[in-house]
Amino acid sequence: MIKKVLVANRGEIALRVMRSCRELRLVTVAVFSDADRKAMHVRYADEAYYIGPAPSRDSYLNIEAIIDAAKKAGADAIHPGYGFLSENAAFSERCKQEGIKFIGPDAYAITTMGDKITARKTMIKSGVPVVPGTTEKLTDEEQAKMICNKIGFPVMIKASAGGGGKGMRLIKSMDDLIPMIRMARSEALNAFGDDSVYIEKYIESPHHIEFQILADQHGNVIHLFERECSIQRRHQKVIEETPSPLMTPDLRREMGEKAVAAAKAVNYEGAGTIEFIVSDQLEYYFLEMNTRLQVEHPVTERVVGVDLVKEQINIANGLPLSFKQDELYQHGHAIQCRIYAEDPDNNFMPNPGIIKHITEPLGLGVRYDGYVYEGYEIPMYYDPLICKLITWGQTRKESIARMRRALYEYKITGVTTSIKFLERIMDTPAFIDGKYNTHFIEDNHERLFTSKLCGTQCEDMAIIAAFIDYLDKLSRVRPPKNTEDIGNNWKDFGRKRNVLRL
Ligand code: ADP
Repeated sequence: MIKKVLVANRGEIALRVMRSCRELRLVTVAVFSDADRKAMHVRYADEAYYIGPAPSRDSYLNIEAIIDAAKKAGADAIHPGYGFLSENAAFSERCKQEGIKFIGPDAYAITTMGDKITARKTMIKSGVPVVPGTTEKLTDEEQAKMICNKIGFPVMIKASAGGGGKGMRLIKSMDDLIPMIRMARSEALNAFGDDSVYIEKYIESPHHIEFQILADQHGNVIHLFERECSIQRRHQKVIEETPSPLMTPDLRREMGEKAVAAAKAVNYEGAGTIEFIVSDQLEYYFLEMNTRLQVEHPVTERVVGVDLVKEQINIANGLPLSFKQDELYQHGHAIQCRIYAEDPDNNFMPNPGIIKHITEPLGLGVRYDGYVYEGYEIPMYYDPLICKLITWGQTRKESIARMRRALYEYKITGVTTSIKFLERIMDTPAFIDGKYNTHFIEDNHERLFTSKLCGTQCEDMAIIAAFIDYLDKLSRVRPPKNTEDIGNNWKDFGRKRNVLRL
């Protein structure tokens, strides 16, 4: 049985994992980089080990340093959190070789689901619907034209190794096809070390709906219902909620069954998420599987009444799942807002810095998953997420009202945050009515942003402003070695050139 857990992560997720470990009376071990010497996860853990310089490639992505820390600490398990090494097959395999339990799936499941083309093929074999498109990587440009003629525009070009919206392009006409394929390829090569791309149909008015699953080592797989994640910016989630306003009981049953089939197809073990794209007509298609805990897992925990981290630990211990499918139900409604140190009115420019004052929201139905404190400096090396704010209500109306109240209570100075932007979303009729899709933010641009500039004008201004700010920071702060080490890039980092070929 696991007694001591090293959490190979930082920020709010490291704290969140350690909280469950503490409830289970497990000893917690933190790891930290130079930039995180004063971080809350280091203060919270029973023990903490230094693993290297601030850039993630030298610390939170450094497998040797983390394994070394685990051995020194005598940790018998490693929880990877999300991002960093959580979807790194080589890391999962290495833990196994070292006799340390990786709290997550094995290298086979990570590798199969980490490659989108292989995942699509695996889903087709298991009877899970995938978005119409290719099941092999694109080899020549003429073939690409033929495929697009067959499925019809608009189409998406996607990187097989993709993540974090990188290497993905929407193409509306034949004229754009070839240049866009080339751009997607070079972006994918740069981000993931793999330029394989494929084509899939663009689903109009899309909804992103995902299912949480849990699978034990005894072949039991269950789902914990859906999360609606269609409030997105540049294909990245901003707000998540459950139940989804689009869902019907029949669709929930059917998609839940497909999610379970998807997990079974790779003999999955642990907590995972099957992501679907759903049309207005309720046609649904598999998008990808995330083989880890998701950022948005708390809404499921609140509505289903399950501690997903405890379940992950039980599964890693070889225990059967704590409940059966028919023992689970959704109670009430929960919403999560991701609050960032960034300026939505300035093209979401990251704004790391020192927290001068903070008053966290409290009260009935509020969960606050954060890690910053007064005087703490949010490092410029990592994702500038400050916290996740989750509210629960008996009804969707009540959880929105609570979120509005919690955002009002949340006071933070020293860094610019996305709180005001989130408040505007809570007051937007399409959100209140639950009638939105992934275009919500662009469709409601006027309401959501105070900036009078729009489109490319705004983007150009923001790029110039971001560059000036960056130069300014370089002159004041020890610079990262590589610009890739700045900002919101946790999702693709751990995936880069590390997928085991099995
Ligand atoms: P990544 O792994 O890079 O995050 P995903 O495949 O998960 O990429 O897609 C991210 C988001 O992009 C989705 O949530 C959705 O908003 C949009 N998207 C992806 N594929 C399609 C599609 N075929 N049609 C419409 N929107 C899509």
